[in-house]
Amino acid sequence: MKALVKKEPKRGLWMEDVPKPSFGVNDVLIKIKKTAICGTDLHIFKWDEWSQRTIKTPMVIGHEYSGVIEDMGSGVTGFKIGERVTGEGHIACGHCRNCRRGKKHVCENIVGVGVNRDGAFAEYLVIPSANVIKLNDKISDEVAAIFDPFGNAVHAALSFPVIGEDVLITGAGLIGSIAVAVCRFAGARYIVVSDISEYRLNIAKTMGATRVLNPKEEKISDVVKELGMVGFDIGLEMSGAPSAFNEMIDNMYNGSKISLLGILPDETKVEWSKIIFKALQLKGIYGREMFETWYKMEQMIMTGLDITPVITHRYKVDDFMKGFEVMESGKCGKVILDWEK
Ligand code: NAD
Ligand code: ZN
Repeated sequence: MKALVKKEPKRGLWMEDVPKPSFGVNDVLIKIKKTAICGTDLHIFKWDEWSQRTIKTPMVIGHEYSGVIEDMGSGVTGFKIGERVTGEGHIACGHCRNCRRGKKHVCENIVGVGVNRDGAFAEYLVIPSANVIKLNDKISDEVAAIFDPFGNAVHAALSFPVIGEDVLITGAGLIGSIAVAVCRFAGARYIVVSDISEYRLNIAKTMGATRVLNPKEEKISDVVKELGMVGFDIGLEMSGAPSAFNEMIDNMYNGSKISLLGILPDETKVEWSKIIFKALQLKGIYGREMFETWYKMEQMIMTGLDITPVITHRYKVDDFMKGFEVMESGKCGKVILDWEK
């Protein structure tokens, strides 16, 4: 079968002919229809320090996808051949303390599809049936292909109740922009979004932001005054930029809450006394909650949440290089690769 393989430990990605994956008793074989490029795939493409530490070549990458069930192991129940599906990309062990208490997203032994084992940028993917998500007919293949980052956005945005609240989102990237739409849908009052890219700020605006700003040109504190607020009730840090996090802390209301999704560098400095004296509540966000976040995603899409404006580019998979180039330029939202003939 055709697959996008990280073949060699250097920059690049290679379209290769690889064996169709075999499946075990409890596995499902998925024929891939659409995939999406994640920031993680771009890291692997560029072969940055994290990828060098994490990825064992050769490996099929990719973890954002939708497809149909082609076949399954004899132990699989509850699924039918031909059903439209996507899947949770974190495979939990099922027997550690967290798994056993229903917190699979913080499993001790988590394995990432397309990171620690072969992924979805291929004609076929094998995952355990426990990770397979059935798709309602109302959810398009394209939207299903971005359920993974949509899940990051939902997990972060709905970690604290947002109804009537003022929300600050730093970083209008692929996840930040989806979070805007989720907060709007969930009843937030003001949603202020910062990003250093005008292209991304425009997407955030389309997704329902009240006010967008470029921190190189404007201060968040001026926008707080402009809107007649004292400070934000909810902060979603989705840039991974230390300066954005610090500006967020400065503009939070006393007793407010922050979801930390962006991966801040280890050497990030913060004024801890501000966090303490403002009595801020900080929550690290990892992945999606299995499977409550998935349930919420499905229901929001089916009751009218529209995340399609975040999809800006579509290519046939043979043109995957164009997709990676536009991802590298930053002048894009989600990029879809089409595997259908
Ligand atoms: P992205 O690169 O598309 O978005 C990041 C955005 O932050 C970009 O649009 C960039 O222009 C913007 N930015 C950079 N500096 C800024 C600043 N000073 N102020 C405001 N915005 C700034 O990435 P993404 O896919 O949307 O992911 C967002 C973050 O979340 C990344 O750090 C990513 O590594 C991380 N991530 C975390 C998880 C998790 O499970 N915790 C999962 C996926 C991604
Ligand atoms: Zn576990």
